[in-house]
Amino acid sequence: MPDTIKYLLDESRLPRTWYNIQADLPVPLPPVLHPGTKKPIGPDDLAPLFPMALIAQEVSLEREIEIPGPVREIYRQWRPSPLFRARRLEKALQTPARIYYKWEGVSPAGSHKPNTAVPQAFYNREAGIRRIATETGAGQWGSSLAFAGALFGIDVTVFMVRVSYNQKPYRRALMETWGARCIASPSNETDSGRAILAQRADHPGSLGIAISEAVEVAAKSDETKYALGSVLNHVLMHQTVIGVEAIEQFEMANDYPDIVVGCTGGGSNFAGIAFPFIGAQLRGGKKVKVIAVEPAACPSLTRGKYAYDFGDTSHLTPLVKMHTLGSTFTPPGFHAGGLRYHGMAPLVSHVQELGLIESKAYHQTTCFAAGLQFARTEGILPAPEANHAVRGAIDEAIRCREEGVSRSILFNLCGHGHFDMQAYMDYNAGLLTDQSYSPEELALALSGLPSVS
Ligand SMILES: *Cc1c(COP(=O)(O)O)cnc(C)c1O
Repeated sequence: MPDTIKYLLDESRLPRTWYNIQADLPVPLPPVLHPGTKKPIGPDDLAPLFPMALIAQEVSLEREIEIPGPVREIYRQWRPSPLFRARRLEKALQTPARIYYKWEGVSPAGSHKPNTAVPQAFYNREAGIRRIATETGAGQWGSSLAFAGALFGIDVTVFMVRVSYNQKPYRRALMETWGARCIASPSNETDSGRAILAQRADHPGSLGIAISEAVEVAAKSDETKYALGSVLNHVLMHQTVIGVEAIEQFEMANDYPDIVVGCTGGGSNFAGIAFPFIGAQLRGGKKVKVIAVEPAACPSLTRGKYAYDFGDTSHLTPLVKMHTLGSTFTPPGFHAGGLRYHGMAPLVSHVQELGLIESKAYHQTTCFAAGLQFARTEGILPAPEANHAVRGAIDEAIRCREEGVSRSILFNLCGHGHFDMQAYMDYNAGLLTDQSYSPEELALALSGLPSVS
């Protein structure tokens, strides 16, 4: 038996549709509210920010939504992505568990994010849009949208959280190589940015602030729209191409997962791998245990409040019901920059409320330890964000060993860590510490939640 086994679908089995979990939910998603009137918003309210095709996907109740031909053509470059059986990791853990991982680091940008960047750029171009403004934390989303913009001839402006802008010059270089403009946020280019800088000239920035800046730029220009790399329903739906493929690959492997694990920042890669399995369960299929793993320093699912909140710091976005730490919450510094958002996707929050998923929070050093064990057995160096999923999967495999049962575990390896080597250097030098969020800061941020009757 070979050590590592790869389940590859041929190109002809590249999915034709994304999966929309809204079709199968036993209870519908709470409505999105207007920030002023606090009444449910309609498609026209979102029209300044998004093209109509994406707004339609946001509220669609159709189960399967066709992937446009030009998007499939681009997906074909790296999709279907491989599913691996991690035999060497299993052996190292001496576990009877069967561990599988879906490898999303094979995309040109090195993560799952191009799965939604490409269709978002496509629908914007179809609507005649010339420019997209967006935010990025660690730079994964900004580089993915820069890549997609280059393919469709759309100018991309990226507001990058200032600490990351300074710490990760290579991600910025990657965005610029693909032709995007990358600006440190808070910046002097927007009212939101200027207001923050007036309070604190050396503000390190946050995703909530960068979102405010990008939304403001899009709202003020007819030619510019906004794009978000996570959280929204249509983004999560584009990512379901991961789980739809995985279901077919498990058929090839003659197996089916008992447990599905993903890391959660805004929730998109987790939803991408998990929702097709949850959907199958909701339609009468096998029950799966689904685990969302988040950082203990930014624990929206395990410590946040399920409430209506803004998506950004300057309160320009509509109100969505989600697990939130409060839109002014700034997490302490830790290396998984992609997991630093104050809120969680409304759909992921909703399925947790319905008891369809569980969530767990881990500190960063134990996640890096898992990432190292993974790299030393399977060879692939995971992104710091992905290490949270690796940790979650390894702990389930250890539990199988302790209980003497063989379960099938699937996790999403959402990206590689080749641009995160400073984090690995710090870990290897023993410099990484486990930071906790401040309970006072959390209480303060939660006290500022908007009141909604
Ligand atoms: C952006 C990112 C995340 C976090 O975003 P989700 O929407 O929760 O998936 C996780 N991992 C990687 C590699 C990322 O780039």
